[in-house]
Amino acid sequence: MPLTLENAAVIGDELALCFADGFEAYLPLPLLRRACPCAACNGEPDALGRVVRPHVQHGSNAFELVKFEPVGGYGLQFFWADGHSSGIYAFSYLQKLAELPPP
Ligand SMILES: [Zn+2]
Repeated sequence: MPLTLENAAVIGDELALCFADGFEAYLPLPLLRRACPCAACNGEPDALGRVVRPHVQHGSNAFELVKFEPVGGYGLQFFWADGHSSGIYAFSYLQKLAELPPP
C-alpha cells in the first residue's frame, strides 16, 4: 500500500504533512533543507542529518520555502528561496525525518 499524502502546508516555519494513513508530520524548514537528499547536498546514501555531509553552504534565505510540488505520486520537490530545488523527498523519507528524535 503506497503512502498517500492528503495535505501539505507551510505553517510558520514548519511544513505540516498529513498522510492518508493518519500519520501527521511537522517538519521545521531548516531540518528539511539540511536533509535535502539530492546528490549535491548528500554525499552519503544514509543521511538524516547524522552523517557529515559535503561542504554545503546555506545562504540566509536557504531555509525559506518558496513552493513545493508533488512528484510522481511518491514524493515532494521543494523549491528554496536560494534557488535550490534538486532534492526530491519521498514520502517515506519525510516520515522518517518526522520520527527522528529532536537534536
Ligand atoms: Zn540538495
